[in-house]
Amino acid sequence: MGRRRFYGGVHPEYNKDHTRELGIEEMPLPEKLVVYFTQNLGAPPRPVVEKGDEVKKGQVIAEPGGFVSAPVHAPTSGKIKSIDLYPHPVGTDMPAAVIIPDGADEWVEGCNAERDITDLDGDKIKNLIQGGGLVGMGGASFPTHVKLSPPGDKKIDLLILNGAECEPYLTADHRLMLEKPEEILEGASLFARVLGVQKVIVAIERNKPDAIEVMRKKCIEHGGFSVAALDVVYPQGAEKQLIFALTKRRVPAGGLPMDVSVLVQNVGTAFAAYEAVRYARPLVKRVVTVTGRGIVHPKNVLARVGTSFEDLVGFCGGMKDETGKVINGGPMMGVAQYSLDASVTKGTSGVVFLVRDEIPQFISDACIRCGRCLDACPMRLNPSVLSVFIERMHFDEAEEYNVLDCIECGCCAYVCPSRRPLVHHFRRAKAEIRKRPKKTG
Ligand code: SF4
Ligand code: SF4
Repeated sequence: MGRRRFYGGVHPEYNKDHTRELGIEEMPLPEKLVVYFTQNLGAPPRPVVEKGDEVKKGQVIAEPGGFVSAPVHAPTSGKIKSIDLYPHPVGTDMPAAVIIPDGADEWVEGCNAERDITDLDGDKIKNLIQGGGLVGMGGASFPTHVKLSPPGDKKIDLLILNGAECEPYLTADHRLMLEKPEEILEGASLFARVLGVQKVIVAIERNKPDAIEVMRKKCIEHGGFSVAALDVVYPQGAEKQLIFALTKRRVPAGGLPMDVSVLVQNVGTAFAAYEAVRYARPLVKRVVTVTGRGIVHPKNVLARVGTSFEDLVGFCGGMKDETGKVINGGPMMGVAQYSLDASVTKGTSGVVFLVRDEIPQFISDACIRCGRCLDACPMRLNPSVLSVFIERMHFDEAEEYNVLDCIECGCCAYVCPSRRPLVHHFRRAKAEIRKRPKKTG
């Protein structure tokens, strides 16, 4: 069998030992939940509650703002104390509802009811997924029902269930595969039914041999399902890299997986789909890996959406004095936090606490043209040249050199001996280019 990997990539310290052996622990209901109205890529949802309203668990508190949008639900029953701007894990303040739980944790009528899914057709399944507020739970937060709606001329022949979890430190997907394998595969079956796909591959890196074994056993019961063991190299879980590693199909620049007849869904999203379709439970909880040398008791936590990072820290025994950096997500692609006031969203796969001596210092030295970033870039970009263009505000040239194809994986910055803040440059350039009016003619 050929190597299951892609061009470029890096081998960071994986540091998954903090939590890989720890079972998922459900966190008790916090005293307060801060639920952002925007938790998806695409159109922001519209709030439908006001200060003082009583809500039930699973009740819609924000309706979709368009097709590329997902409703937001109350994660418990209680009262809306306020609606205000709150620090969001992506780094800006965003409107959120502050819910004070009443302790009853009472579902709204119609939710948490088992249904027979045997004869559900694809459209009905997709509607239930849409109503459940599902978004990609690997971090992208793209509405799941949209991904399940490729245009008629894009026939999908392969569904990849992404269990690579290549980000250092994170073990949420790993634990879910060990503890809920049947539910994940049932969720994948629902996706396959919507797409009319027969072939499903569960993709897992070889550093999770126990998950590979468990999923292989379960796949035997699902005809057409198989497990692919992948080389351990970051960013193996990035969609385009994953598709190439498994199929040698190359998604074109600016294209999507559907352009090569593939659809990729995260294992956590598959689990959430099963919960939404089988039990009418919208997405109001998720597994979050709370980890790193800076946290007293690292854990895989089943937390409500809206749980503050401060409450997660409290549940995990507190933060150590030597903690120097808190990251939403993993250290390669995650976003540094300036406060513990941010809260868990549908896309929060982990919160990592690094101690001071682990933090790379960006000293912004000049590029020494060593070329290491070119070898590491899985998108075959030229990070060295791009960063120089962007430092000089030459955004047109950066666009010509395909900065929009950058997946912000951080491989270039990881290998750069000058510790240049490359990803920061690329995010800035992409934002600048997307702000501009589209060129015509
Ligand atoms: S240029 Fe973008 S895609 Fe390439 S290594 Fe750097 S962050 Fe990753
Ligand atoms: S790795 Fe850093 S120093 Fe080396 S070429 Fe790339 S940007 Fe320049």
